[in-house]
Amino acid sequence: MKKLAEPAHLLADLKELKLPSVTKHWERLAEEAQRKRQSHAEYLADIVHTEVTDRRERRIARRIQDARFPVIKTLDGFDFTAQSTLDRDAVLELADMRFLAERRNVVLVGEVGTGKTHLAIALGLAACQREHRVRFVTAAELSNTLVEAKAQGQLSRRLEQLARFELIILDELGYVPFDKLGADLLFGFVARVYERRSLVVTTNLPFARWSEVFLDATAAAAVIDRVVHHATILKTEGESYRLKDAKRKSMRKERAAS
Ligand code: ADP
Ligand code: MG
Repeated sequence: MKKLAEPAHLLADLKELKLPSVTKHWERLAEEAQRKRQSHAEYLADIVHTEVTDRRERRIARRIQDARFPVIKTLDGFDFTAQSTLDRDAVLELADMRFLAERRNVVLVGEVGTGKTHLAIALGLAACQREHRVRFVTAAELSNTLVEAKAQGQLSRRLEQLARFELIILDELGYVPFDKLGADLLFGFVARVYERRSLVVTTNLPFARWSEVFLDATAAAAVIDRVVHHATILKTEGESYRLKDAKRKSMRKERAAS
């Protein structure tokens, strides 16, 4: 097929209108339209659609980047059969992201290696795919950030920045104890996002031991009250998945060797 002549002004106009995907695809789609004998309307619809889809993909990619996930994990990649007590339906229901609109929280409680962070990231990723603003941060990192911000007289600015995220994943609450200021600031953060934003918290500590994190039974009770009040609590149980996976693999190797 002969190469299409570029209509006058087209590229300059597309540039002015900031339509990079149309610029990239108009020629290929025009040739395709000729071949398929598409109507002008169909061609127009196709070309507009490439711009819309590409833009959406770029927005989603930006959301994922801004979320700063340490690794990418998906719900599809989660083996629910390894979790006999975890309520699979409850997890899949969360993936529709209604909990964000309802400002509800999710608390994932369980031992190390049982998939808490995996599930938290997978939910965060699903939120990004629906173009929500998500931020992943460990509790220790957040507490440090807030302490630093306070030292620089930037605390309220920092809190405001964080409040722009619709979903904040607070990973590993309870692994590292905070000092008093760090604990207080983290408490202040939770109090501030309460009923305005959603949190996904992962923790190895049962609620009864949250006072060890917040160094104060009253503060812990207040956090539990706020976070847990509107929360889906998911318990991950069993042996560490990493350990189990490693064992299974080495067993397979042994079997292959014998
Ligand atoms: P936790 O945060 O509870 O300590 P992680 O979510 O970091 O545990 O899980 C440890 C590793 O095992 C990760 O690589 C994770 O993807 C994997 N993992 C844990 N549970 C499962 C599961 N049920 N299905 C698939 N991978 C899992
Ligand atoms: Mg974890």
